[in-house]
Amino acid sequence: MLAGGGHTHALLLSQGPLPGPTTLVSPARFTPYSGMLPGVVAGHYHSREAHIDLAALCQRCGVTFIEQAATGIDRTGRHLLLDDGRRLPYHLLSLDIGAQPALDTVPGAREHAIAVKPVSGFLARWQHLLATLPRQPRPLRLAVVGAGAGGTEMVLAIAHALRQQRLPVQLSLFSAGGLLPGYPAGVRRRMQRALDHYGIALHTSTPIQRVTASHLYGEHEQPYPCDFLLWCTGAVGAAWPGDSGLSVTDAGFVRVQDTLQSINDHAVFAAGDCAWPEPGPVPRAGVYAVRQAPVLRHNLIAAWQDRPLQHWRPQQRFLSLLSAGERYATGSRGRRLSAGGRWLWHVKDRIDRRFMARFPVMTTPPAA
Ligand SMILES: Cc1cc2nc3c(=O)[nH]c(=O)nc-3n(C[C@H](O)[C@H](O)[C@H](O)COP(=O)(O)OP(=O)(O)OC[C@H]3O[C@@H](n4cnc5c(N)ncnc54)[C@H](O)[C@@H]3O)c2cc1C
Repeated sequence: MLAGGGHTHALLLSQGPLPGPTTLVSPARFTPYSGMLPGVVAGHYHSREAHIDLAALCQRCGVTFIEQAATGIDRTGRHLLLDDGRRLPYHLLSLDIGAQPALDTVPGAREHAIAVKPVSGFLARWQHLLATLPRQPRPLRLAVVGAGAGGTEMVLAIAHALRQQRLPVQLSLFSAGGLLPGYPAGVRRRMQRALDHYGIALHTSTPIQRVTASHLYGEHEQPYPCDFLLWCTGAVGAAWPGDSGLSVTDAGFVRVQDTLQSINDHAVFAAGDCAWPEPGPVPRAGVYAVRQAPVLRHNLIAAWQDRPLQHWRPQQRFLSLLSAGERYATGSRGRRLSAGGRWLWHVKDRIDRRFMARFPVMTTPPAA
């Protein structure tokens, strides 16, 4: 039983059918590939090019697809509980349900901010904004909270899209710390130049304390006017795995051992952003979700056939490519090596398209 159509499960299924009867449960038929999401917003890709059609993928490998959200686990009776009240029996359960920005840590954020995930919700609001912007009487004030990789890529993508359409806007990027923490100085310098190029105001060391319909407030009640707020910071897991008795971290991530099995229930596996491989920490990055796919696939089959399981080891360094609005990207590997250029955007484009080519060609486009 696969709950969630994130990167790990999608990739696992792209490698062919599993030996036992398999079901994939996901609240949405189309799941986004986050590597291309900033490119969708910037206008480099159609939304269709950056989404995986889970129903078509399941059909290709003989897996039953159920378009529903999972809401709980009856671990004693081994049933996955669905939003519509159904209870699906399982022998082995694997969770790949992602994580969401932490909206509840700042008062007002849940009411007034738009979270970058779920992506379908964000893309719908973005399309609506694009449609209504030309009618705005004054330049829109748009803020992004979170200057990690996702937030920085998104503010640049938004700036690029609005500049292409000649729509007036004032853009700000807020960070409780600095720009792109953990990235090499060369990447930060290049991305800072990109922010300057688009006239985006960067507010570092500015932890947002509360949010209203018209303002963000920093420390000492410093107000920042804002009409459209995108929330790209923090990450928390869903509550229901912990409520079902699985061992989870304070942020709700399922604690797994190096076989990707829950540390307190070996019939349950977890991978991608929703998992916390012990002893942790592992960054919330799609790269890890992708690298876990072959190990998870092997281990689900091995557990089903009562054979030895493999051990997943997080790689210490990986290639990180960040897009910067226009067709320009920075790249880094570890804390030292970094580069930037238009050629790197084309490298990233090739990698992303190669990833998407593993999945069935989309026939029905996603809504946004
Ligand atoms: C703007 C942006 C850009 C990024 N760019 C990169 C990048 O370039 N490289 C990189 O390595 N990382 C990147 N990331 C991080 C990356 O998005 C995540 O690490 C990655 O998506 C994690 O994949 P996942 O498999 O955990 O699940 P996700 O891709 O998050 O998917 C989770 C799936 O689970 C489904 N689901 C949710 N709840 C339920 C439920 N209750 N029941 C059933 N299904 C459920 C969702 O519908 C979704 O399909 C980026 C993130 C953002 C926000």
